[in-house]
Amino acid sequence: MASATCALCGVRSEGKELPLTWVTSVEDGHKLVYCDRCARENLRSIEVKLDSVYW
Ligand SMILES: [Zn+2]
Repeated sequence: MASATCALCGVRSEGKELPLTWVTSVEDGHKLVYCDRCARENLRSIEVKLDSVYW
């Protein structure tokens, strides 16, 4: 697996595996990855999007 790139700030993960602190989110069929920092800052908006899928 190639190193992941944060969908928001563009920072790349170190190593081949996704850090446990990073968050993946599938939006419109695209798999997006957020670094730990962006995940914290955007956790609410991500959850809102996830909730909207079920509603
Ligand atoms: Zn980021």
